[in-house]
Amino acid sequence: MVFRSADGVSACESGRQRLDQLSIKVSELDAASAKKLEPGLSDDLTPHMRWWLPEDEVINGRQWLNFLKTDAMRHGCAFEMHSNVTAIQSDGKLYVQGAKHPAAASAQFDATVVCTGHHAQELLGPLGLKLPLLNMNQCALSAQIREPHLAPVSGLFDATRRISIFRTGQRLKVSSSQGIWPGQSPEPVYNQLYQVLNDWFPGSARLHGVQSCTQTWQTTNTFTPDGMPLVGPTKCPGVWLNTGYGSTGWTHAPGVAHLLASSFAKSGQHDSALLGKLNVNRFD
Ligand SMILES: Cc1cc2nc3c(=O)[nH]c(=O)nc-3n(C[C@H](O)[C@H](O)[C@H](O)COP(=O)(O)OP(=O)(O)OC[C@H]3O[C@@H](n4cnc5c(N)ncnc54)[C@H](O)[C@@H]3O)c2cc1C
Repeated sequence: MVFRSADGVSACESGRQRLDQLSIKVSELDAASAKKLEPGLSDDLTPHMRWWLPEDEVINGRQWLNFLKTDAMRHGCAFEMHSNVTAIQSDGKLYVQGAKHPAAASAQFDATVVCTGHHAQELLGPLGLKLPLLNMNQCALSAQIREPHLAPVSGLFDATRRISIFRTGQRLKVSSSQGIWPGQSPEPVYNQLYQVLNDWFPGSARLHGVQSCTQTWQTTNTFTPDGMPLVGPTKCPGVWLNTGYGSTGWTHAPGVAHLLASSFAKSGQHDSALLGKLNVNRFD
């Protein structure tokens, strides 16, 4: 994690203290130690401060999801791909339309957990539920590695620009935590992604020419007022919610999935102590 100036350090200090309390290591690095970890780091840019989180990890999201899906199927989970939930009733009954069911078919479960990201409101609005969610887009860039020794070994977060750069296989991924309004031009953020990649790892990626295969894209994330997700039962019996992750869904989802699974193991009685802080009705 690098800070270009002293400005952002104090804002992150309380987070660092919380990590300390949890015995999660964060150490300050000098230039030589940083270069040992990441030999491709630019010599032209000297950050104000560098933090190293040795226990932190970078994941390839697509690969991770495939592993999870295969594992879930081995445990008896059934996935119905290329299908849309078109409606939900207040008792949790679902209507699904898609490859298997060209005409909408209904299905009833002990509980239905709505985890459709920014589409949750569309499904729950007809049940009279108004969710405190705000949709913002986030931008990312993926580029082919040109020179492996100039590319990051693991990952770097530019805390000043709020942009992360990390290696996934043969490619580099650069993504911004800055939210833009749906419909707003993403070009200024895309330009910043290229700039920040060149600042820290110059020459590492193939960014130009017909063979570059560079991809830029934006996706919609949905945010709650306190930045924590909405998880747990709604006022409609049988309908649960698991959404509102903003820009930290990968970080929080495994822990929340564990909480939900243990709640369902107790016959759907949610554990209020554990899920209380994420309560769906906490903004009412
Ligand atoms: C560029 C970028 C970088 C990010 N980096 C990080 C990071 O480093 N760390 C981190 O923790 N998080 C990161 N995130 C955030 C993370 O991706 C999101 O928080 C997470 O994807 C939210 O997960 P979700 O399942 O709630 O919603 P989504 O990922 O939006 O998934 C919702 C799913 O529901 C499906 N769906 C919607 N409506 C229906 C329907 N009617 N019927 C059936 N299916 C439906 C959609 O097709 C979709 O597959 C990043 C996001 C972006 C855009």
